[in-house]
Amino acid sequence: MVCPLPSVPFCMIPSSNVEQRHPLRSSSKPVSEQLFRNFNSPFELRQVHTVVVKTGTPLSDLPLSRVASVCALTPSFLYAEQIFRQVNQPTTFIWNCCLKDYAESDSPFDAILLFDQLQRHNVCPDSFTCSFVLKACVKLQDLFHGRMAHALVEKLGFQLNLVLQNAILHLYASCGNIRDAYLVFDNMPQRDIVTWNTMITQLVKSGDINSAYEMFLQMPERNVRSWTAIISGFVQCGKPKEAIELFSKMEEVGLRPNEVTVVAVLAACADIGALDLGTRIHEYSDKSGFKKNIHISNTLIDMYIKCGCLDAAHRVFEGMKERTIFSWSAMIQGLAIHGKANEALELFFEMIQTGMKPNGVTFIGLLNACSHMGLINEGREFFYSITRDYRIVPSIEHYGCMVDLLSRAGLLEEARDFIEEMPIKPNAAVWGALLGGCKVHKNIEMAELAMRHLRELDPLNDGYYVVLANIYSEAKKWEDAARVRKLMRKKGLKKTIAWSSVTVKGAVHEFVAGDETHHQSEKIYSMWNELLVHMRSKGYVPNTSVVLLDVEEEEKEKVLFRHSEKLALVFGLISSPPGQTIRIFKNLRVCEDCHASFKLISEIVDREIVVRDRNRFHTFKDGSCSCRDYW
Ligand code: ZN
Ligand code: ZN
Repeated sequence: MVCPLPSVPFCMIPSSNVEQRHPLRSSSKPVSEQLFRNFNSPFELRQVHTVVVKTGTPLSDLPLSRVASVCALTPSFLYAEQIFRQVNQPTTFIWNCCLKDYAESDSPFDAILLFDQLQRHNVCPDSFTCSFVLKACVKLQDLFHGRMAHALVEKLGFQLNLVLQNAILHLYASCGNIRDAYLVFDNMPQRDIVTWNTMITQLVKSGDINSAYEMFLQMPERNVRSWTAIISGFVQCGKPKEAIELFSKMEEVGLRPNEVTVVAVLAACADIGALDLGTRIHEYSDKSGFKKNIHISNTLIDMYIKCGCLDAAHRVFEGMKERTIFSWSAMIQGLAIHGKANEALELFFEMIQTGMKPNGVTFIGLLNACSHMGLINEGREFFYSITRDYRIVPSIEHYGCMVDLLSRAGLLEEARDFIEEMPIKPNAAVWGALLGGCKVHKNIEMAELAMRHLRELDPLNDGYYVVLANIYSEAKKWEDAARVRKLMRKKGLKKTIAWSSVTVKGAVHEFVAGDETHHQSEKIYSMWNELLVHMRSKGYVPNTSVVLLDVEEEEKEKVLFRHSEKLALVFGLISSPPGQTIRIFKNLRVCEDCHASFKLISEIVDREIVVRDRNRFHTFKDGSCSCRDYW
């Protein structure tokens, strides 16, 4: 429906008085400058229009883009069209401006509505019209209208317009329609770096890192965006080593990392504990003026924490002018896994003082802190305050933390009751936490109960069977231990291979148990024998109960002495200068015997040894560990 046009014809009334032509100085009913420029509805436009006509003001004095935007999505669309035709303006241009504003606004669907309006009223679209509509479709992930815009591009013969072709490619790829994206890509008569980068970024987003990498290798030239997209891709799919290798190649070709690259590389460093590279990137980031980027600072905190450098993480945290809840939570969690429960709690109260509201992740950090240090009452209080004070619904992770807290402290029955009263179905991690507590507190009956649930919930996880077998063998119930091992064999479960790594001069060296493949192997074993003499003189007795094999005691000792973390430590000792901290990563939990050995070795060689295992950090120094043997 179109509103009737005003009764005054669209013509300029001749006037002898120039003064009179301006509406403000007109002798007829005045229109304020405010209204003349800022009319907000077709109704107000009509008022202005009437005055314009009456006073003989040229119609072209009207702010035409405003005319377009107030009439665009109303029945007055045609009214605006008529004004444009009167002033002899290319109407497509004016509508495109409006389309662009809509496409870039928070309600891009208005662009689609206007596009529809333009088509219905035969306003001739051009390449800009198409590009703004495509932009809106990408924002809305609207494949239906996107296909219509694509068809229009074809119909208008814009096949050679690279910007439009890239926009179409982006649309299909970002909507997850990779097959159509490939089709567009293959049929493009020419491609530029944007084309390739779009494909790589979207393939990475869809999780297809292999195809993305193939594209990356094929592309004729690459810029920082291309490298960054593929590096982030490798980090996201859990291949930090590959990400770091690619980053070195990017540096070789002389490209400077941007802020996104820095975040991706830091995340990779965090994953594999590459502290040297992480520190270098930190310096580069500061020099490049990225210090204000909160995302980078947060990633730096995470990187330093995961590399075992709590102090460096703290310095980054302290230096931040602005902090997000992520910064606080990361720092709290960092203190927790490093066994600094009191500091974690203090930081939490400091955060509350600043007015920052905690989220679910913050509480996971707090509960972890309490759990690692046996702060039972504080833990209980935090758990209840999640809902009571902050109205957050506890997630399965929060319940898992609580069970862990109670089980470690030996409150196994309370832990069991807590599980049974949970309002959500307990998962394997929850029962696994109870099982872990049963091992520490040697409770076979409760371990069997946990295992009954774990066999149902996570039947293929070898870790639980190993813990149960350990519990039996520690209680000298050899037959039961053998039965569990037989069950594992029957189910085809193999023990996850334990490995440890240590970084020496920037290179990561990995060891598995009994490893003899390392080029320094001989030296490592002879150094270990030397250390063993010192350890025995300090009262070390091998704890062979952690060895699950049916072999002689002597054979068990041999297995024990070749645990991967011991090999990594000895290699670290012989290949780094005296006094330097040794940082070790282990994929599983560190065993009791290695823990006891490391305490003694830290004293014998007078070094700090930082071990990150699956659960937490242990910092060995002067004969004791930061976990105070509570882990
Ligand atoms: Zn061990
Ligand atoms: Zn420890």
